[in-house]
Amino acid sequence: MYLIAPSKKLKIEDEKAIPQKENLKIMKGVIVREILGDEVVQKIRIKDIATDEEGEMDMDGVFVYLHGSKPVVDFLNFAVDLSDEECVITNKMMETNIPGVFAAGDVTCVEVRQVVIAAANGCIAALSADKYVHGRKRRRYDWAKSKGE
Ligand SMILES: Cc1cc2nc3c(=O)[nH]c(=O)nc-3n(C[C@H](O)[C@H](O)[C@H](O)COP(=O)(O)OP(=O)(O)OC[C@H]3O[C@@H](n4cnc5c(N)ncnc54)[C@H](O)[C@@H]3O)c2cc1C
Repeated sequence: MYLIAPSKKLKIEDEKAIPQKENLKIMKGVIVREILGDEVVQKIRIKDIATDEEGEMDMDGVFVYLHGSKPVVDFLNFAVDLSDEECVITNKMMETNIPGVFAAGDVTCVEVRQVVIAAANGCIAALSADKYVHGRKRRRYDWAKSKGE
């Protein structure tokens, strides 16, 4: 097993020593350029940042770990209002500035980007969309009553 990181120092090193495991080889200052294989992962192409040297390694699988929380909103082409931080601005009912367009999850300007928040706000957005689509005055939360409508 390999842990491949482009940085020369892993963030974890500031807090604690990296566990030494026989089956774990840590490769720092190396970037993965490409994952290769026909139907399954077979190799990776790597590049040593310091030397620009490239090479290939046999590999059975790859777990990609990326961190960062900048929302990806370029696909919206500024169709809805974005904040200076380029997240989608919504009100508490997850409505954007365009009637009938709702947003939820990490693309919105939430303080906390976590699954539970995305799911909860997704629920609010769905209720708001239901209200909009059916031209209701209020959101309907009692789904048992909607049978047969
Ligand atoms: C490395 C990492 C670790 C995390 N760990 C945790 C954790 O332990 N606990 C936790 O609660 N949260 C964690 N999070 C945060 C959590 O993953 C997010 O808050 C959550 O996934 C947000 O859900 P979402 O539906 O808004 O966005 P996403 O889960 O990112 O879903 C958006 C989807 O839209 C797709 N998409 C993007 N652009 C387009 C397009 N143009 N057309 C069609 N589809 C598109 C994407 O491919 C993706 O499938 C972690 C995040 C990262 C990056």
